[in-house]
Amino acid sequence: MNLYDAVLTLVYPQSCVICSSSVEQRRFGVACERCWRETRIFADEEEICWKCGAPGPACGRCDEMAFTVARAVGVYEGALRESVLQLKRRPHLPQHVQRLLMTAVSRAPLGSCTRVVPVPLHPKRLKTRGFNQASIVAEAVAKALELPIDDVSLVRVSSTEKYRAGLDRKGRRDTVAGAFTVSHPRLVAGERILLVDDVFTTGATVSACAAALLDSGARNVFVLTIGRA
Ligand SMILES: [Zn+2]
Ligand SMILES: [Zn+2]
Repeated sequence: MNLYDAVLTLVYPQSCVICSSSVEQRRFGVACERCWRETRIFADEEEICWKCGAPGPACGRCDEMAFTVARAVGVYEGALRESVLQLKRRPHLPQHVQRLLMTAVSRAPLGSCTRVVPVPLHPKRLKTRGFNQASIVAEAVAKALELPIDDVSLVRVSSTEKYRAGLDRKGRRDTVAGAFTVSHPRLVAGERILLVDDVFTTGATVSACAAALLDSGARNVFVLTIGRA
């Protein structure tokens, strides 16, 4: 703990949202160092499905998904899950999460991307929340990679109100299919897109986004998320 953190701990005591012990360093965000250590972060040599990034060997469930590959920082649990939930409340990404994202994006083939695109929020929800959490992640990644961020080309056109618990996998896919369109195809044509979102759950949303981008001439769509459910 450096002096700055020590003073901040006194002024803004922050307790870990998981275990309630004190968060020693601001860069850890809402969770303490011990809870971060207990959260599963994917390592360089991790065995994952090459396409969708699921832990383990080729999963066989992602064949129909439109994106080229999908990668995440780690499993959507513990400190990663709490960081994502906090990001929906406050448009800020702690330094530690930024560093983990940079490690994930530096691995092949994501490092070859040329343009960063956040998964758009439905305009209605954007109005209520005031910001798009995927844009906050995309901005941090684009800045670090010195790449252009493009939050105008990909547009969410239909409401996904039907996207609720109770729908099976196919139902969810049908609900989001066609929910996205590309308004500026010339900006994405020939590009290797890094599509950024907070969580990869079923993959239906990022797959629908990827389909729209590829239809508009994008060369590849690589997906990067913080957590993987
Ligand atoms: Zn903790
Ligand atoms: Zn897979």
